[in-house]
Amino acid sequence: RKLGIALVGLGQYAGGQLAPALKETEACYLAGIVTGSPNKARQWKRQYNIPDGNIYNYDNFDSIKDNPDIDIVYVVLPNALHAEYVVRAAKAGKHVICEKPMAITVEECDRMIAACKEAGKMLSIGYRLHFEPHNLQMKQLGQNKVYGEIKKIKAYNGMGDAQGWRLDKKLAGGGPLMDVGIYCVQGVRYTSGREPIAVTAKEGPKTDPVKFASVEQSLTWQMEFADGMIAECRTSYSEEMNLLRAEAERGWFELSPAYPYSGIRGKTSDGPMKLPQVNQQARQMDDFAIAVRSDRPTPVPGEMGRQDVKILQAIYKAMETGQRVEI
Ligand code: NAD
Repeated sequence: RKLGIALVGLGQYAGGQLAPALKETEACYLAGIVTGSPNKARQWKRQYNIPDGNIYNYDNFDSIKDNPDIDIVYVVLPNALHAEYVVRAAKAGKHVICEKPMAITVEECDRMIAACKEAGKMLSIGYRLHFEPHNLQMKQLGQNKVYGEIKKIKAYNGMGDAQGWRLDKKLAGGGPLMDVGIYCVQGVRYTSGREPIAVTAKEGPKTDPVKFASVEQSLTWQMEFADGMIAECRTSYSEEMNLLRAEAERGWFELSPAYPYSGIRGKTSDGPMKLPQVNQQARQMDDFAIAVRSDRPTPVPGEMGRQDVKILQAIYKAMETGQRVEI
């Protein structure tokens, strides 16, 4: 049986990526929606053939517990709302996928993990690149030390068109670091298979102090590892950047661009990577549905999301204090 997914929050990512991907999945399908907008409910009902009984709003969301069509709730709301809806989904007895960043504080992550554990339900984070062949190749080359020990990783991710809640610290938890810089933290972690022990960070200049009144416009940071490896990272809401590059004892390997939904390209010191483009979101959701069905762990669990939030918080602390912050 295909598992039923309900999307919570029908914004750009849910509408532009997840719903189309759910037409290509084999182990799950779009069974329901949760939205505050009656207009969107009507439109999605028509477009995706969703029965009235599987359409919820934020007030009656908890009654989803009585709906056997919905196995998995996928939270695609602004970052500061993730914790509340993941906890409510778990209490309603549903397995949960939560978008990145998992939440805006580590304490929220702890509550989310505890709620899912208590309900006996699985929790995964929307880390689609763990199902993308080029990023998996970086992990394989790095973690298996194919080019020897990695000495340095460069990870840059920036975009120029952030608006709305992404510029509001209360809803986003921070600026580009929370939204796109998180891919750099992830990339460094899965390429090296190691955890940073300390960070330093420096905020970039605000060329538009009105737009960036409550969040950073750009940020550079460095992560240190126990074996001497260094990661140099950058993120921005005013500069397009997209790189994941590892320099090792006997060669290098890199993706540029590294993090988009499609068009990822890879090279090593031996030549181009020849790997297929895939529907990342379809693979990610199918993997979770299969994990739920077969009761095996997800490769992108809540604990992984929590560790990233912990590192992001340390980076902000380093940025604010100018000090090296141990993790
Ligand atoms: P969006 O602004 O397009 O959508 C957010 C949705 O939440 C909207 O439909 C909005 O109506 C709804 N919403 C409900 N309560 C709200 C409130 N109080 N304030 C504002 N909006 C509210 O954003 P998005 O780009 O779809 O991002 C949603 C989540 O998905 C974020 O956590 C983001 O980080 C994540 N995301 C992940 C990826 C990825 O590649 N994994 C890509 C894009 C976004």
